[in-house]
Amino acid sequence: MNFRSHMDIALTEARAAGARGEVPVGAVIVGPEGVIAQAGNRTRELNDPTAHAEILAIRAACAVLGQERLAGYDLYVSLEPCPMCAAAISNARIARLYYGAGDPKSGGVAQGPRVFAHPQCHHRPEVYDGIAAKDSEQLLSDFFAARR
Ligand SMILES: [Zn+2]
Repeated sequence: MNFRSHMDIALTEARAAGARGEVPVGAVIVGPEGVIAQAGNRTRELNDPTAHAEILAIRAACAVLGQERLAGYDLYVSLEPCPMCAAAISNARIARLYYGAGDPKSGGVAQGPRVFAHPQCHHRPEVYDGIAAKDSEQLLSDFFAARR
């Protein structure tokens, strides 16, 4: 089986989020049937601090499937998930997590709380980092440079 990255879709969602004035992060959920959900950050638009790309994509995918878990599904996100999203990814039973840039400031997977390494974490996805990391980093640095 050939690996096909879906990070390009996550980056497209990230760019769209940035164009809306949101922090440019995008996520996509892929299963055996292909892409079932994709989302970008909408915290400002929805006045919702939990409306991170990963959370919105998980909610949309679960709604499409009519189930509360996503066992066997993969999540691509342009930036290392924060602790909240990492916990949601674990609760959703996501099989594989692919992310782009590491996030020293708010990441919760490879740094900070390292949610998946915690003894109380009941499900650990396979984690693949650094997927198209340069593109993600560029998007974020351009976004924050434009705000200064
Ligand atoms: Zn998050």
